[in-house]
Amino acid sequence: MTAAAIQAKLDKLGLRTAADLLLHLPLRYQDETRLHPIAHAPLGQAVLIEGEITGANVQYRPRRTLVCQVEDGSGAMTLRFLNFYPSQIKQLAPGKRVRVFGEMRHGFLGMEMVHPQYRMVGAEEPVAEALTPVYPTTAGLSQAALRKLVLAALASCDLADTLPDDVLRPLGLPGFAESLVYLHQPPPDAPLDLLAERTHPAWRRLKFDELLAQQLSMHQHYRRRRAQSAAAMPARHSLTRNLLESLPFPLTRAQERVVKELAADLARPHPMQRLLQGDVGSGKTVVAALAALQAIENGFQAAIMAPTEILAEQHFLKLSAWLAPLGLSVIWLAASLPKKEKQAALEAVAAGAAQLAVGTHALFQEQVEFKNLGLAVVDEQHRFGVHQRLALRQKGADTGQEPHQLMMSATPIPRTLSMSYYADLDVSVIDELPPGRTPVVTKLVGDSRRDEVVARVRDACLKGRQAYWVCPLIEETLSPTLPQGGRGQSSPSPSGTGSKGARLEKLQLQTAMETFETLSATFPELQVGLVHGRLHARDKAATMAAFKAGGIHLLVATTVIEVGVDVPNASLMVIEHAERFGLSQLHQLRGRVGRGAAQSACILLYQTPLSETARSRLKIIYENSDGFEIARQDLLLRGPGELLGARQSGVPLLRIADIEQDQDLLAAARIAAERLIAERPDVAEGHLRRWLGRADELLKV
Ligand code: ADP
Ligand code: MG
Repeated sequence: MTAAAIQAKLDKLGLRTAADLLLHLPLRYQDETRLHPIAHAPLGQAVLIEGEITGANVQYRPRRTLVCQVEDGSGAMTLRFLNFYPSQIKQLAPGKRVRVFGEMRHGFLGMEMVHPQYRMVGAEEPVAEALTPVYPTTAGLSQAALRKLVLAALASCDLADTLPDDVLRPLGLPGFAESLVYLHQPPPDAPLDLLAERTHPAWRRLKFDELLAQQLSMHQHYRRRRAQSAAAMPARHSLTRNLLESLPFPLTRAQERVVKELAADLARPHPMQRLLQGDVGSGKTVVAALAALQAIENGFQAAIMAPTEILAEQHFLKLSAWLAPLGLSVIWLAASLPKKEKQAALEAVAAGAAQLAVGTHALFQEQVEFKNLGLAVVDEQHRFGVHQRLALRQKGADTGQEPHQLMMSATPIPRTLSMSYYADLDVSVIDELPPGRTPVVTKLVGDSRRDEVVARVRDACLKGRQAYWVCPLIEETLSPTLPQGGRGQSSPSPSGTGSKGARLEKLQLQTAMETFETLSATFPELQVGLVHGRLHARDKAATMAAFKAGGIHLLVATTVIEVGVDVPNASLMVIEHAERFGLSQLHQLRGRVGRGAAQSACILLYQTPLSETARSRLKIIYENSDGFEIARQDLLLRGPGELLGARQSGVPLLRIADIEQDQDLLAAARIAAERLIAERPDVAEGHLRRWLGRADELLKV
């Protein structure tokens, strides 16, 4: 293979430099350090044996097989090859010596190995001195070639330790060079179980290094951003007090606390970077409104961006109702706005006549210019791509000052994730729901009992309640090789273009229409409505308004209603093919009911038979009502891919460490990072430099 061909293979593995190769760690090991006599080789495990070939021939029954006999003085055995090249028949000729590695088993004709690895040897060839690593690789790049490259990297790279003893010793971590050599070439007596579990100190050292690099980089990132300037907008209470007085409810204690945290951030001359987390229905909108008012009190504009038109419109209506009485102008911007209205909105934003702009991602398109944007709020931030959020931040950058930024999410980020991937954000949490909510009863119902569900919906609607019927998600079966963490379970994102996305969206639309037609026929006595993502904004708004006013009894919907929709009289939700939805999605959907005083229910209709995983996932939703707990269990079940994938598509995960398994190291890395930055910035620098190629990838947000 040419050097270029090898490099192409390495690129495929993400290995660009020798240092990358060093950190390409084995999946497992083979013990080729000991030759076992054939007669005493343990069964059922991979062993190395060596002997002389005494016979080889091709058999045709039951299928074409190259069968070869080997003897080593202690006994004889058979090797079987089902796929083989003609050259192998020649190679495995009687009289030659062969060294074989494979799993010994009892075959029809005594001891045998099927498809073992083998190589021809001379007499007295030494066995391996270290365990043989088996690396993750790609087609066309052999283990032997990869091993050679790694060994060369070990010999040529600078393995000097980046961390001083006083960091490593208290954690019981070995040196860097020592750990790497150990993992690439473990001694014959190495504890294979600890290596396999990745709990061996050598593994822990490298995991720690990776986590530390991530923490250091996050810190750097955070500090860099903190060093930028932003307008200081201290609380003046001239507008916020008025809103508070006009609200029909007092803030919860949690809301009050968070409002204070935001007020303090906004008063500083550096851009706020805060994530506001609060479960579905915890009342984040009013908190965002108060922050916006603080910006407006200081003569700045504010913008609130939502991921769907339905949600943006709801925000617009609610915020207009709150802010118009204070003499403020709120405008609304969406891609679907008629040209004239859009033009007027753009002018109001540019002239500063509109103090608050609410909209979808249309808010940060190029032609939108703010006069002086002081605060950008991103609702349901996990639904946006990084680029979209960055673009909104850029909106203030022309003035040399960044707007303050508030991100809000009802998808709770488990502690381990917020300690790692979200470490560059300040986090506020609303951990309390407004009083007077009744918990939603969740029911799991197999689709054979669909009739009962239909009866229940009819009953509820005839009693004056309203209901949602959530259409099944189309599963992304079109792509067999989804990127890690990218199960296509969320509805198309605002940026979701591309032909696959379009195809899926079309199928999704078709399903929605069909569901609507079926249910309209099922419930001739009820008013049935339909909302989906492709609906024109005006029709969508009209349908939502009719539902809110009670003119529609049953609303058939796609996941466009997942976020923000707030109709207190709706007390029943049916989710079809619940097994296809993501857990946080189910939790969000369920949060649409239980908003009024009536007892609410969410029926998860599933198709039988359920797979084992689907069953355990639905069980989590059934047993938990706390979004944080659901997210935590979801993370355990699925790994952080999905949550992170949502944060930034294509974000490479930590390759060596595992934030769930290695929580203790994550915590230790966090402490060490803070200490190093404060006391030993040179060490922090050096460590980052070694890991930067990777750390940088992890952190570009
Ligand atoms: P979310 O955090 O899911 O965005 P919202 O901001 O939409 O929640 O609030 C959900 C509902 O609760 C809204 O109708 C809102 O007006 C209401 N609400 C918010 N705060 C309170 C409160 N302190 N007391 C009573 N109701 C509240
Ligand atoms: Mg909300």
